[in-house]
Amino acid sequence: MTDHREPFSSVLETIGRTPIVSLHAAPEAVPVYAKLESFNPGASVKDRIGRYMLERMLETGELSPGGTVIEPTAGNTGIGLAIAAGQLELNAVFVVPERFSIEKQQLMRALGAEVINTPTDEGMGGAIDRAYGLREELENAVVPQQFANPLNTEAHYETTGPEIYEALPEVGAVVMGCGTAGTLMGVARYARERDAETYVAAVEPEGSLYSTTKGRPVEEGEYKIEGIGTHDPATNELFEPDLVDDVIQVSDERAHEEAHRLAREEGHLVATSASAASVAALSVARGIHDGEIDAPHPSVVTLFPDSSERYLSKGVYRSFEEWDG
Ligand code: PMP
Repeated sequence: MTDHREPFSSVLETIGRTPIVSLHAAPEAVPVYAKLESFNPGASVKDRIGRYMLERMLETGELSPGGTVIEPTAGNTGIGLAIAAGQLELNAVFVVPERFSIEKQQLMRALGAEVINTPTDEGMGGAIDRAYGLREELENAVVPQQFANPLNTEAHYETTGPEIYEALPEVGAVVMGCGTAGTLMGVARYARERDAETYVAAVEPEGSLYSTTKGRPVEEGEYKIEGIGTHDPATNELFEPDLVDDVIQVSDERAHEEAHRLAREEGHLVATSASAASVAALSVARGIHDGEIDAPHPSVVTLFPDSSERYLSKGVYRSFEEWDG
């Protein structure tokens, strides 16, 4: 989006090339940089995979013009896919668990997509099953399935990773939240090719189970942070534990507090998956600073997936007790 000097022929061309901003709260000797994905036209990191997956599927013939894209999604992926589907003349149907933010569902509908809700207690698993059921009922329909589609990781390997290194030639650590894990895996793979010693940490809410893939016993529980975490790592097929040095857990309380701090002190209107990533990235920077974490360079990069405006109805800027995650 950051190139304002030439007109683009479609909104799809404005996806990516998002700004990177340093965080004031980092130790001076170990800067932390955040890539701001709300600058995408659908205001989240998921515009990248929406465009990338559909263009590749049309190229390979897996999807033909006029076809239908069906996706189980917490919302942002639906918006990214809906933008791309609309511009590529495809139909879009999204299956969204009820508890996810109402703003996102309204935006998907505004972009011309159909939204189907599944019960909250069936989780993402219920939404995934429903999406595959619908595919059987329709002709010329695909389920890109961001949780299992290597194109999700590839989108970040091809775009997000290279953009980070264009802005920051020396990156010591990559610290990002994991929902599908496509963002972190794509960036980590690219980063490790640039320097095999790059320190990589995944971020998840307390109560999520990515930590178990590194053999750490953690307690499962509910969390309010939206967009990252898993209750069943087996469904997060893109996550490669070998690409990750550590999984960092962040509590709802810390993420909520940091979302408020980021707005007040740094002018970032970001949601709690971003503020959780910020908490973890700042702790890795302190670890590098204090000699507790080995990284090839004294710098950390993180990514803020979307904006807090999408969660105002859930009270993200009210007190912790009033925040309805
Ligand atoms: N934050 C938000 C708000 C999201 O919607 C997502 C996607 N589920 C993520 C973070 C995580 O990104 P990824 O799926 O690439 O791990």
